[in-house]
Amino acid sequence: MKYLDEFRDQTLAEPLLKELRRSVTKPFRVMEVCGTHTMSIFRSGLRTLLPEEIELISGPGCPVCVTSASHIDAILAMAELQNTRIALFGDLFRVPGSNGLSLANASSQGAKVDIVYSPMDSLNLARKYPEELIVFLGVGFETTTPGIAATILAAKNSALDNFAVFSTHKTMPPPLLALLDDPELQIDGLLCPGHVSSIIGAGAYQPLADTYKLACVVGGFEPADILQALILMARQIANGEARVENAYTRAVRWEENSRAQQMVRAIFKTADMEWRGLGVIPESGLAIREEYSHYDAERRLNIKLTPATEPKGCRCGEILKGKEVPSQCPLYGKRCTPGNPVGPCMVSSEGTCAAFFKYTQ
Ligand code: SF4
Ligand code: SF4
Repeated sequence: MKYLDEFRDQTLAEPLLKELRRSVTKPFRVMEVCGTHTMSIFRSGLRTLLPEEIELISGPGCPVCVTSASHIDAILAMAELQNTRIALFGDLFRVPGSNGLSLANASSQGAKVDIVYSPMDSLNLARKYPEELIVFLGVGFETTTPGIAATILAAKNSALDNFAVFSTHKTMPPPLLALLDDPELQIDGLLCPGHVSSIIGAGAYQPLADTYKLACVVGGFEPADILQALILMARQIANGEARVENAYTRAVRWEENSRAQQMVRAIFKTADMEWRGLGVIPESGLAIREEYSHYDAERRLNIKLTPATEPKGCRCGEILKGKEVPSQCPLYGKRCTPGNPVGPCMVSSEGTCAAFFKYTQ
């Protein structure tokens, strides 16, 4: 891990912090799009060390947080079906639906729910339980979709019939375009998500930089990565520039990762998608193509999304839009804590409320 350790090294961070202080000439607001950035900034203590001219705002970059309440309700309805087993990555397990109950509650009442560490693990479940339909919950951005596309292909190639994916996959940058159209959201720079960018390429943010005159900098997740990205951003803002720069060149190129994207495009097509707090954003999601409809849980189980209610008093929507901070939510730290979460932003390990609670209480 020497390579990574270098980016966590305090002796590296100090000169970068000094350089950042030198580069900041006026106050600016940065949205960190990705939940992992939010967590890393808190965990490393950067939030308290950054120059006070830099205001950080968390954005819609946690896939669990942005899964809409109607999708959660549909997932809970699937969990109740006979001969159906839900397979998922961890955090979604505890996100409550409209009735305040989660998959964790459903599981304790007998629903078949398995947490898996890779989508391919759900194929093992399909082999283990041939009489059940295994529904893998496809939640995530561009980083996770290639693996899920590969899993659907593997299911087809091995003629596994009892496997399907419930796709709520989402893509960047459409939500950012939707957010930035809101005149109330005044930001000067975007800290663009490293993992997503390794798939879509730094060039994908060019329309954002051009249309909204924003400094867009792709950053990695270690403290030194984040500081490097903020230095580039501060320099652009000081010079009155607004362009895309890549501070994470060890993982991200200007062009997309065409192999991963080709795999995704073979299985998925773009579709309108509902986001928590942001509503339906045209062409911001991925649906399974007709050719693979046998692996589409939505069609196979005839799932209809119905309007759902957000938990009463919960401000997750406003937090995901960067308009409020967790302490502005009346439930924060009172009715809503990591042990007893009311909304997804307190459940997810990448959620803004969970980060604030863990590192500021
Ligand atoms: S998938 Fe990657 S880019 Fe998206 S929130 Fe998670 S770590 Fe960030
Ligand atoms: S504190 Fe809880 S209820 Fe309030 S916005 Fe955050 S997650 Fe939602």
